[in-house]
Amino acid sequence: LDDAGRIRIREDLRGFFKGELLFDELSCALYSTDASIFQVMPIGVAAPRDEEDVRGLVRYAAEHQIPLTARGAGTGLAGESLGSGLIVDLSRHLRSILEVSENSVRVQPGVGYHELQARLALAGRRFAPDLTSGVQCTIGGMLATNASGARTLKHGYTRDHVSKVRVVLNNGDAVDVARESRWTSEAAPSGRLSEITRSVAELLDRNRDLIQACKPRTRFNRCGYLLQDVLTAEHVDWPRLLIGSEGTLALFTEATLPTIPLPLGRCLVVLGFSGLDAAVDASHDILETGPASCELVDGRLVTLTRGLAEDLKGLIPSAAAVLLLVEYECDSAHEAADAGRKLVDRVTDFGRRALPTLCASDPDEVERLWRIRESALPSLYGMRGGRQPIPCVEDVGVPVEVLAIYVHKVQEILRRHETTASFLVHAGTGQVHTRPFLDLQKPDDSAKLWALAEEIHTTALELGGTVSTQHGTGLARTPWVARQYGALYPVFRDLKAIFDPQQIFNPGKIVGPDPGRPAWPLRGPPVVPAEGPRPILRWPAREFQAESLNCNGCGHCRTETTTQRMCPIFRATHAEAATPRAKANMLRQLLSTNTDPRALAADEIREVADLCVNCRMCATECPAHVNIPKLMLEAKAANVAEHGLDRTDWTMARTESFAAFASTLSVLVNAALANRLLRWLLEKLFGVARRRRLPRFAGRNFLRRAARRGWTRPCRSERRVAYFVDVYANYNDPQIGEAAVSVLQHNGVEVYVPPGQRGCGMAPLAYGDVESAREVAEQNLRVLAEPARQGYPIVCSEPTAALMLKYDYPSLIDDPDAELVANKVTELTSFLWELHQGDKLATDFRPLAVSVGHHVPCHLKALGHPPTGPSLLALIPGLRVHTIDVGCSGMAGTFGLQARNYETSLQAGRAMLNELSRPQAIFGSTECSTCRLQMEEASGKRTLHPVQFLALAYGLMPELSRRLLEPVRDRVLQ
Ligand code: SF4
Ligand code: SF4
Repeated sequence: LDDAGRIRIREDLRGFFKGELLFDELSCALYSTDASIFQVMPIGVAAPRDEEDVRGLVRYAAEHQIPLTARGAGTGLAGESLGSGLIVDLSRHLRSILEVSENSVRVQPGVGYHELQARLALAGRRFAPDLTSGVQCTIGGMLATNASGARTLKHGYTRDHVSKVRVVLNNGDAVDVARESRWTSEAAPSGRLSEITRSVAELLDRNRDLIQACKPRTRFNRCGYLLQDVLTAEHVDWPRLLIGSEGTLALFTEATLPTIPLPLGRCLVVLGFSGLDAAVDASHDILETGPASCELVDGRLVTLTRGLAEDLKGLIPSAAAVLLLVEYECDSAHEAADAGRKLVDRVTDFGRRALPTLCASDPDEVERLWRIRESALPSLYGMRGGRQPIPCVEDVGVPVEVLAIYVHKVQEILRRHETTASFLVHAGTGQVHTRPFLDLQKPDDSAKLWALAEEIHTTALELGGTVSTQHGTGLARTPWVARQYGALYPVFRDLKAIFDPQQIFNPGKIVGPDPGRPAWPLRGPPVVPAEGPRPILRWPAREFQAESLNCNGCGHCRTETTTQRMCPIFRATHAEAATPRAKANMLRQLLSTNTDPRALAADEIREVADLCVNCRMCATECPAHVNIPKLMLEAKAANVAEHGLDRTDWTMARTESFAAFASTLSVLVNAALANRLLRWLLEKLFGVARRRRLPRFAGRNFLRRAARRGWTRPCRSERRVAYFVDVYANYNDPQIGEAAVSVLQHNGVEVYVPPGQRGCGMAPLAYGDVESAREVAEQNLRVLAEPARQGYPIVCSEPTAALMLKYDYPSLIDDPDAELVANKVTELTSFLWELHQGDKLATDFRPLAVSVGHHVPCHLKALGHPPTGPSLLALIPGLRVHTIDVGCSGMAGTFGLQARNYETSLQAGRAMLNELSRPQAIFGSTECSTCRLQMEEASGKRTLHPVQFLALAYGLMPELSRRLLEPVRDRVLQ
């Protein structure tokens, strides 16, 4: 389709469509990949706001013959959510849990799996399919692919747990469907519904015997349309027919899901084996005991777990090369423990094969043992560069009795192709997730893909198996559907024609492939042009170009669980463009196709880069550790180098200069900041949110106070540190600096405050003003290099400053002093905790009867060591500390100060703010100064740095107790 055609479609849709319409090249590129190995460029993306939008879209698509491909989180491994027409992003707005009743729940398709489970857990219920690794998938995605999970043995597939769906048919009718009578037509709400029901009933009736004859011999099968249990004497079961149809027959807009009670008892038994054969053999016996799951973890994963998870290493029997994890779910803890014990006894019967066992029925211990499997998977699937485990034959299932034969044959095929692979086996169900290690950047390895798939899939089919048991048919397995089903395949075509005669719903999947396109539209190996954008920051050789290639599209960065942080802006907006994955996609596309050195400076790139607030959490939590924040700093830097800063960004990038000025006129400035009219003017002129409480400015800054007290003189003692104060503690709250110095001195550590230091420079860097950031960094290095040379640890009370000095200065400045200083930097609470660990921290605290909610800031986590603030606070007698480690505060430096980001900022910090608002936290505590602004703003609870609580408890700064008691109510924060 040419540009004029795209524009016409966009303009047509604008006439009735309320949601977002994305037709620019960049947005299309962001939706051109998912977690699979494929890439298909769509003509546009539509994110419907409601069902009316979906209906309008379908009517328009049918009229103009435009393919529609529904997409949830885009985490499928089979490429089922990629398409060349319009991508319908159902995850953006259709994400409501509509109704929770006693034993069912009604949801929209964009609801996250974990969000649903968390909501149901409040009532002691759950949705039965248990996706242990599905942290980011949506219910719509589960419906489309008929997802299962580790406990399929007990709970089956998604289609076994859906009582009703609401779908939009190809004529735009939206209908609620369950088990529909195959005879009645008058009562049907849509003529199209009864027409389809009748035709489907006739088709299935005619082919009843064929449908039964063509079933694979496996207990579980996900390939193609599942027809064997759809038609009864009286009814067509619409949910059973549509679930797993991958959006090829209709589009889901709602589903009613029966729920079940949370299990009252669970027991997990871990069995070690010397080899694969022994483990597969044993799994047959184990199946007779009725487990909920029976997972085989192969040697590679066992080795990885041993190497990665220190706490688990000791648990895995040293002689075990392969493990079986067998779980029982029961109605009581006693029953579950009993089932586990019986298995252990039984194991002694086949103990000739099994090595020592572990058995856990305590819920925490069960979760811990599951981590044997879970801890290694992300690092295996998130390998960077070189050969990686590629999902191309990862969903095969064979009858359990031939599982060992199949595994042997696959190993033989791999040997012939001089390739190794990882195996994850659901031993109880005969599902084998094989991932060959290949480097798709290399043509030789790429060429092996199809050959391996052909041989491995053929082997599975010859053994009576299926090419798909769990992950769907999609682009990956459609080429083998006809071979798997033989004479039944034309029935699939007829079924598709009944529902979708115009072929608008996800064409080329299940029934296909599309003859006009390659069967496997692989993501091509990127060829980085010799001429193209070059980095402004420092990177190891060619790493700038290669970094984005490490993203495998897994979509883990769409997670919304509280155990992870990434990505606060995605959590607030639910826009694909906000995900770290989208940013990697954007850079990969741009760097591999563009020869224009200024391409990175384009405004549309800047728009996406602005959706990164540099919290650094994705670089830490992404399984492949893709350094998205640094890539986005590059994009911002390129834009600023070409176009300069807009007025608001310019203001934010210069917070230090404004703070220095404001501090000298503090009385006037503080009064002005409290004035409504002036705040309105500040917002209009400089974009500073007038609703936001701002910190007041201190009349005498910390560095001047330090000079007066003689702290700017170098120390003589051996126990000494150099203190780096940063902007906020210098100009807004010098009591933080004073508390830091007095607590250190109280513990016998002499403090030197190097004069001439400036703020760390994060504000200009975060907005892409690299020149200003470099200038500041050079100044600070001049001041800090000498103390570093003399062996002073450089202590920062601000985690952002520690991060900047440690990791960003070496990226900004090509000077050995940058590394020298970086190696000496330490964060204050970690430094104090180390003193405590060495019995060098005084504990002469006075009791402090307060309860404190301590928020762990992102930049502290990004420093890579466990948070120690709460442990320090817990040393104070009488102080109760409630650790809040559930997400970003949303403030993200100066991001939340801007009027245009105010709401997003509060939304991004919602999880943390909800925790802080609980009655058990009377006060707040955090190391980060801007998080503190957000905490006081949204909760009204006085928030201090933990070192201020320590200074108060040591009796060093009694004036802080007054401050604690002052209510937070003014426009200007104390
Ligand atoms: S950025 Fe990381 S977590 Fe996100 S899709 Fe890429 S590899 Fe997965
Ligand atoms: S650094 Fe933070 S804001 Fe930026 S993409 Fe990563 S998680 Fe999102």
